[in-house]
This record gives sequence, structure tokens and C-alpha cells, in this order.
Amino acid sequence: ARSLSGNSYRIFDARHLDAGRSLADLEADLRRALRRDELELHYQPRLALESGAIIGVEALVRWRHPRRGLLQPQDFIPLAEESGLIIPLGYWVIDRALRDLQWLNGQGHLALHLAVNLSFQQFQDGQLLSTLQRLFRDRGLQPGCFEFELTETAVMRRSSHVLSTMEALQELGVRFSLDDFGTGFSSFQHLATLPISLLKLDKGFVQRMTEHAADRRLVRAMINLAHDLELPVVAEGVENAEQLALLRQFGADQLQGYWICAPQPLTELSAFLRRHALS
Ligand code: C2E
Ligand code: CA
Ligand code: CA
Ligand code: CA
Repeated sequence: ARSLSGNSYRIFDARHLDAGRSLADLEADLRRALRRDELELHYQPRLALESGAIIGVEALVRWRHPRRGLLQPQDFIPLAEESGLIIPLGYWVIDRALRDLQWLNGQGHLALHLAVNLSFQQFQDGQLLSTLQRLFRDRGLQPGCFEFELTETAVMRRSSHVLSTMEALQELGVRFSLDDFGTGFSSFQHLATLPISLLKLDKGFVQRMTEHAADRRLVRAMINLAHDLELPVVAEGVENAEQLALLRQFGADQLQGYWICAPQPLTELSAFLRRHALS
């Protein structure tokens, strides 16, 4: 079952694992998974409210475990972060996502933006900037089409190193969005001083908004705040027409959610993009 609270997966709970299988086993499995190419990316489209066009996709990682079946990020990303495997995993994700974007371009889906989730630890690796530069060059892609999604916790733990890496990446043309906005404890000063280009309103607010007036007011206030800072807003977790109508009324800029399209494997995504462009 998927938790409605977008952040709960971050608290890693060993009880999720089968009895008798230790964390160390799963870590060894994950190490092997990286070598054996057991990871896959699914993509969720992002819709621009005004034009109705799909302007980008977010890459979301899954693990096709030989015995456990398809694992969701909450089942292995926390372990990857704790064990340091998030570094090679993160590079795998970036590399695969850029290959897939190149393939999508070849299918005629041009001018798509690609968003990839970045864990705080990935900043600690000194190779991030140079690796990205090389990958963009090798694939003939413009960094301007690329976006990293960061959570507030990652941003709050920022060091001067994180800030300088963000600035160097921004210089290259890469953009940053602040994910799960509203769930952390970010001071608004961070919002004003970090090179953030976009806010992603956490799906918890979007989902409670139709039931609770307080959440509705919060959503409206957060959208207004973002716009005062000249930041466009992506609303996540849009699951019904009522949520969509409210978000339109409040002036949200972009939407993601099951109502538009659930995360899809690459070929299904391509078919969706084709159908959507014709409709
Ligand atoms: P996120 O970045 O906030 O991603 C949005 C999550 O909401 C995704 O869960 C997506 O499948 C789900 N979602 C999308 N639309 C809806 C909707 O309408 N309703 C509901 N209830 N959920 C919706 P997913 O794929 O399980 O990913 C969970 C989290 O794992 C992500 O949250 C992200 O923080 C992390 N993650 C995923 N891929 C990566 C990755 O490659 N690297 C890192 N570091 N983290 C990743
Ligand atoms: Ca999830
Ligand atoms: Ca995200
Ligand atoms: Ca989010």
C-alpha cells in the first residue's frame, strides 16, 4: 500500500523486510542489482495547466527484484542512502534517464524536460558536475532540459559545498526544483537565497485540500508565496477533477498525478505522449 503522506518512506523501517532477511542481505542484493541492471525507471508526465501540453517527465526508480518482485523507492532508497549505494545508483538513474530522453527525442517527443530526484549525499560526490557535463556532451543534450528535484531536508543540510555545486550546475543550465514543498521546516530565507527555479507542492496538501478548508487556504497561500518569489508551482498527487479545478483556480502552473497519468515504463510513456498530443 502506498502511503499518502509523501515523506513517510524516508523513515526506514526494517520491519518492512521479510523476517530472516537482514539489511545486509538487501544491501548485497542492491549492489548486485546495480551490476545486473535490475533497476528500471518509470516516468510521470508533467502537464502545463495553461496550454494543456505535457512539458516534461519525472524519472522514478524501481527495482525488479528477482524474488521480491517490483520494489518501490521507499523499499530501497533509504537503504541506498544509508549505505552509500545512492551514489552509484544515482549515477545509474541520471545516465539511464538521459539515454531515455535521447530515445524520446528520436521518437519525435521534442522539447521535453527531464526531472531527476537527487539525494543530499549525491552532492558529496565531487564528480557530479563533471559527470553531468560529460553525459550531456556524449548524448548531445542541452543541460537546459534537465532538472534536479531536491527535498527540503536536503536543502536544509546545505553546506557551502552544496551551494557552490548548485551554482555551478545552474551555470551549466541545470535547474533545481524544491520537492515536497510545505512538509519540511525550510526557512523562507533558504527559498530566497538558493538557486531554486520551481516549487513542487507536496501531494499531501493537494489530497487533503478538497476535504479541509485549512489545507485549501494553505495551498492557495503557498502558490501565492511562490509567485511572489517568481517561482512557478507544480502540484503533485492530483487524483481527481475537483483537485484540478481548485488548483486551476489558485493559479498552479503545472500538474502531476494519477488523474493525468501514473508513472509509466518508457514505451508506455511514449504512447501516452503521442495520444495526448493528438487529443
Ligand atoms: P517524489 O519525488 O515526491 O515522487 C512522487 C511520488 O508520488 C512517486 O512515488 C509517484 O509515483 C507518486 N505519485 C505520483 N502521482 C501520484 C498521485 O496522483 N497520487 C499518489 N498518491 N501518488 C502519486 P514513488 O515513485 O513511489 O517515489 C517515492 C519517492 O522516492 C519519490 O517521491 C522520491 O523522493 C524518491 N525517489 C524516486 N526515484 C528516485 C531516484 O531516482 N533517486 C532518489 N534519490 N529518490 C528517488
Ligand atoms: Ca511512494
Ligand atoms: Ca520528486
Ligand atoms: Ca514530492
